[in-house]
Amino acid sequence: QKFVYDFTEGNRNLKDLLGGKGANLAEMTNLGLPVPPGFTITTEACKVYLDSGEEPPALRDEVSAHLDALEATMDKKLGQPNDPLLVSVRSGAKFSMPGMMDTVLNIGLSDDSVAGLAAQAGDERFAWDSYRRLIQMFGKTVLGVDGDLFEEALERAKHAKGVSVDVDLDAADLKALVGEFKALVSKETGRDFPQDPREQMDLAVCAVFDSWNTDRAKLYRRQERIPGDLGTAVNVCSMVFGNLGPDSGTGVAFTRDPASGHQGVYGDYLQNAQGEDVVAGIRNTVPLADLEGIDKPSYDELMRIMETLETHYKDLCDIEFTIERGKLWMLQTRVGKRTAGAAFRIATQLVDQGLIDEAEALQRVNGAQLAQLMFPRFDESAAAEKIGRGIAASPGAAVGKAVFDSYTAVKWSRSGEKVILIRRETNPDDLNGMIAAEGILTSRGGKTSHAAVVARGMGKTCVCGAEELEVDTKRRCLTAPDGTVVQEGDVVSIDGSSGKVYLGEVPVVPSPVVEYFEGRMHAGADDADELVKAVHRIMAYADRVRRLRVRANADNAEDAARARRFGAQGIGLCRTEHMFLGERREMVERLILADTDADRQTALHGLLPLQKADFTELFEAMDGLPVTVRLLDPPLHEFLPDITELSVRVALAEARQDANENDLRLLQAVHKLHEQNPMLGLRGVRLGLVIPGLFAMQVRAIAEAAAERKNAKGDPRAEIMIPLVGTVQELEIVREEAERVIAEVEQARGVNLKLTLGTMIELPRAALTAGQIAESADFFSFGTNDLTQTVWGFSRDDVEASFFTAYLEKGIFGVSPFETIDRDGVGALVRSAVEAGRATRPDLKLGVCGEHGGDPESVHFFHEVGLDYVSCSPFRIPVARLEAGRAAA
Ligand code: PEP
Ligand code: MG
Repeated sequence: QKFVYDFTEGNRNLKDLLGGKGANLAEMTNLGLPVPPGFTITTEACKVYLDSGEEPPALRDEVSAHLDALEATMDKKLGQPNDPLLVSVRSGAKFSMPGMMDTVLNIGLSDDSVAGLAAQAGDERFAWDSYRRLIQMFGKTVLGVDGDLFEEALERAKHAKGVSVDVDLDAADLKALVGEFKALVSKETGRDFPQDPREQMDLAVCAVFDSWNTDRAKLYRRQERIPGDLGTAVNVCSMVFGNLGPDSGTGVAFTRDPASGHQGVYGDYLQNAQGEDVVAGIRNTVPLADLEGIDKPSYDELMRIMETLETHYKDLCDIEFTIERGKLWMLQTRVGKRTAGAAFRIATQLVDQGLIDEAEALQRVNGAQLAQLMFPRFDESAAAEKIGRGIAASPGAAVGKAVFDSYTAVKWSRSGEKVILIRRETNPDDLNGMIAAEGILTSRGGKTSHAAVVARGMGKTCVCGAEELEVDTKRRCLTAPDGTVVQEGDVVSIDGSSGKVYLGEVPVVPSPVVEYFEGRMHAGADDADELVKAVHRIMAYADRVRRLRVRANADNAEDAARARRFGAQGIGLCRTEHMFLGERREMVERLILADTDADRQTALHGLLPLQKADFTELFEAMDGLPVTVRLLDPPLHEFLPDITELSVRVALAEARQDANENDLRLLQAVHKLHEQNPMLGLRGVRLGLVIPGLFAMQVRAIAEAAAERKNAKGDPRAEIMIPLVGTVQELEIVREEAERVIAEVEQARGVNLKLTLGTMIELPRAALTAGQIAESADFFSFGTNDLTQTVWGFSRDDVEASFFTAYLEKGIFGVSPFETIDRDGVGALVRSAVEAGRATRPDLKLGVCGEHGGDPESVHFFHEVGLDYVSCSPFRIPVARLEAGRAAA
């Protein structure tokens, strides 16, 4: 096994082995770009080290061989006193983990070689400053000395000299500081700072390995869903210096604008500085374009290199570079991060440039980015006073009055105020306040904090972990770093897509992408937004290649019409219970309270025309496309008054001796229907089987609506769906009755309705006996909400707000299984039910209508297992179309 690769030996496809940085350094080296020579120690070596606590035995010799070669190339030896070779030792994992792991620069400097460096550089101060930095970095990251101790010593040195910045310390000051730092290391660690350059290097390599497992690195990986066993590679690279005078410097650049995607010169440059100085923001950088005036040859070369990189990677790249005395060096490149809008624009620009094809363009964007582009946003042209920034936890733009507790949030929102709930952090007690608020702002906690998880679940705007904002819930105010105080009732605006927090109301504008999907903006128009044009093209690619059809979950004509505008190819789930709410609730109540057949029939008769009208509208809106109507699903108590409220009302009335007969009957019924576990109780097909006439009424309404549309020359394509089936026998009974009703209507109206009858697969037993159930079903629609609930034994209404935060933090899962399908558990059941169902009935139509139908990752899974369609809420349809295209491309 080979543990060390020279930069000339690797390439960009070896990220698993060489990490992202190492693989790209190798790629650039082989492109002939000026990369300082060096080598990469593999992630495999790291894994052996982490497993066994020791470096692999062969590693030392391999490193020696590569170091010899490097020394030969550079014509100097590591730490050689008169002209030392210095190296950097940098971490570099497969996935970038910014700032999470260690780096040590200037390895090779010692009491002996510092003078050699000074002589070679012709700069005494520079050499002592480099040595000072080495001891500081090495002491902190390799030897574990508290970094503050070095900083304090540095501060003391400046104070003693009466200066405020490092650059005002001269060589003698820095030399003295080196002495102090060395003493500090000895005192804190009981050992001297190692003078042997090779020992420095080996210790630094092990420190980088160890940094893979620091607490913060582990936490970061869990949050970003990076596997914990990948390990990091280590890059040993000869040092080049950007701090050797005004003809040196360091910078970062993008091959095109990561915000707009436009080609041009984007980046920052800092003269006479090293990389850390840019990150630390010690001095102000200048725009990259200014480099042309500072050092034209280097600038021209950089522009050429950037073009080479873009053409080679066929994508936006970001770059770190250093200029050492007029010589340009490339220190890093990678395919750069970009905003959601830029991702779409860049993908189409690259197609136009002939660099990538349409299938590749689809891989360059994703549904999460599209979803982000569909949120309303703050009008960036409006003047707004930004008071702070936190983590963009749940996208959207929310404006409201600041409130600092849940009770006030609920109270104010009831009286019609829009509120932003501001807390240090939230917990389950804040739930009502979160529901009432337009958005949530917290000063603590990350992307998996309670506030973030719950807000995302609700689709509510959230900024969390805005540490710089001081929240005082007792005094009901928030203090910004600039001293601005926001009191309860002051208006604030929060941007869940950028994490920015503003004082006052920032105007909100609708997303141009939604305007486009709504048909209010045309991609073909000359002045059409560039982003809209790009989205239009990408959606066309996706629609061309996708195999999955996309339907909508919708139960009224308005939603159906919007869904159709957004590209829905039918309705996959019409939840008829939504048609029983509002003023119709009393009619349902009458049905539930009916003692006699006659009473029940009267109640059902009352509901029939209303249901029929609902369906007629829906079939009209979806004319020519399938509409799956699901018969009543939820437990009946949902249509009755709350048991506690009603009990109190009756008790009070009884005390006054004027209890009314109806209330008493109602209370009796509520008691009778009360269930400890309504989700596992009398609902779905079970209702249809025990309430005579209920399903028959619904089927009749569907059939009559369809018949009417047919007679009006429409093209209704109704599909009747039975929920919560666990066994084929249930379905057989319902089917018999439904077929009888349909035949009656067909005969009476003289039409052939071609209605199909299918079932939801949302219980484990249904999935396990799918082969039998398919005997009686024309189609299956997977109800992955209930299936997830019953497979995991997680109450879908409770767990996300209760213990999911803890589960996410512990890394038990990276994302809620209610959000993204659990492939191994729930997914395995879906897969086997698909196979069993099709084995019984090869033409069985298969879809999914749980929330997962609109989740990007889940859409790929449904594509893989061979479903015919996914169904999701209207706003998710473009996302599902895009992801279905990406899955097929
Ligand atoms: C489901 O369970 O996945 C489903 C779509 O039905 P509902 O959410 O209405 O229970
Ligand atoms: Mg369900």
